[in-house]
Amino acid sequence: MKFSFSKGSFCAAAALCLGIGLIFYSKDRITDSVYTDISADTAPIIVLDAGHGGMDGGCSSADGVPEKGINLNIMLSVRDMCRVFGYQTDVTRERDISIHDSGIQGIANQKKSDMDNRLALFNKYPKAVCVSIHQNKFTDPVFSGAQMFYSPTNPESERLAQIMQGKFVENIQPENTREIKLCGKELFLCYFCNNPTIMAECGFLSNPEEAAKLKTEEYQKQVAFTIFEGINEFTSQ
Ligand SMILES: [Zn+2]
Repeated sequence: MKFSFSKGSFCAAAALCLGIGLIFYSKDRITDSVYTDISADTAPIIVLDAGHGGMDGGCSSADGVPEKGINLNIMLSVRDMCRVFGYQTDVTRERDISIHDSGIQGIANQKKSDMDNRLALFNKYPKAVCVSIHQNKFTDPVFSGAQMFYSPTNPESERLAQIMQGKFVENIQPENTREIKLCGKELFLCYFCNNPTIMAECGFLSNPEEAAKLKTEEYQKQVAFTIFEGINEFTSQ
């Protein structure tokens, strides 16, 4: 079953339940959005991954801010938004940690165990939609903008990537002309997950302007809401 939220009810619910200022999203398009009634038995569980953590900071901005914390902030906001709208959720981490098994020695072995455990969670539920959240980096600081990666493992992943890419353009990056990209085994989590899965590179920490935005709570919330909307549209179709 599906129903439409009015602009007013959406903003009231968001502000009340999330305690965050989603007022910036009170655009006309909200009126047209369709949100799923998650009480149905067919609803998928949303599994979210904040990339890196603990000893693995991921890429960093020029002034040394690692992506792991940005990823975590965005992911936790996406989770909260999903919960507000009735989705069941699960996440790979809620803190700045690696999730490798205890007793594993050596950074390489810990990293392998960490990735294995993330993949196990992504494949734990038969009807999951999975999103791994990351930030990008390139040698040339001119590049910016989100890009979604998907694998051929599940045929629905491409549709999820396309919807999510469109949401970034529609919501926060109107100049973004990037296209979704098929990934290989190097994107371990994305490639080997059997559920619809994307790796969302939300922006470039190597671009000073984009890095400055990504470090702010306000922009992190905008990115989170964009990802939430992408997930919701995917599950609603
Ligand atoms: Zn990363």
